[in-house]
Amino acid sequence: MDDAQLLQYSRHIMLPDFDVAGQEKLLHAKVLLIGAGGLGSPIALYLGAAGVGHMTIVDDDKVDASNLQRQIAHGDGDIGENKAVSAGAAITAVNPTARVHAITQRLAGDALSQQVAAADLVIDATDNAQTRYLLNRTCWQHGKTLVSGAAVRWEGHVSVFSPSVLSSPCYQCLYPDTEADAQLNCADNGVISPLVGVIGSMQALEAIKCLTGVGQSLVGAVLFFDGKYGEWQRIGLSKNPHCPVCAAS
Ligand SMILES: [Zn+2]
Repeated sequence: MDDAQLLQYSRHIMLPDFDVAGQEKLLHAKVLLIGAGGLGSPIALYLGAAGVGHMTIVDDDKVDASNLQRQIAHGDGDIGENKAVSAGAAITAVNPTARVHAITQRLAGDALSQQVAAADLVIDATDNAQTRYLLNRTCWQHGKTLVSGAAVRWEGHVSVFSPSVLSSPCYQCLYPDTEADAQLNCADNGVISPLVGVIGSMQALEAIKCLTGVGQSLVGAVLFFDGKYGEWQRIGLSKNPHCPVCAAS
């Protein structure tokens, strides 16, 4: 790290358990962020500002006027622009040294596999059930930790699933029924603006802890947040011994 970086990240470095070593880990980290909407916005901005060295952001959607109420990486001038490109520009406006790669199409199959394999950590910031299950399976195949978050209406939750931890459940242990259409999205149900900031910021925090090894991650637990009543609930989550994704065969 040069003198400019020591100054830029000084508030991290003065944390005794973080120090220069923690910042070096962030500067060398490669993060794959799927989704640059409500959750993806604070994740991209915080991880970019925090000094994550390389971020690949994936989103096939374009910025719409109805997004600006909560998707804070995008501005009025970005309407019509691809969200991954717009979020990338927002990161480099804060931190010009951050390397950002924007992918403007939805990834599946080999293309998704390649990106997951190349990342140190994957973050799910989508509101699409199909993508969530696919991402979970792909992370498990490649042994990559997945930081998962969801937010709709006034409620959200966050968790971390880690194939490198033997006892870790996966996303499908939490929601076993892949056919259930129970997953809600903001377009149909609405969402209170700062909720995505709360949950997205928690995902960014968990990502930093996983990348640096500082603190204790949410592996084996889910944190639920009820914004209307200001209540947090931490619930332990065990591996489903019959899970088709993560249970030992
Ligand atoms: Zn599982």
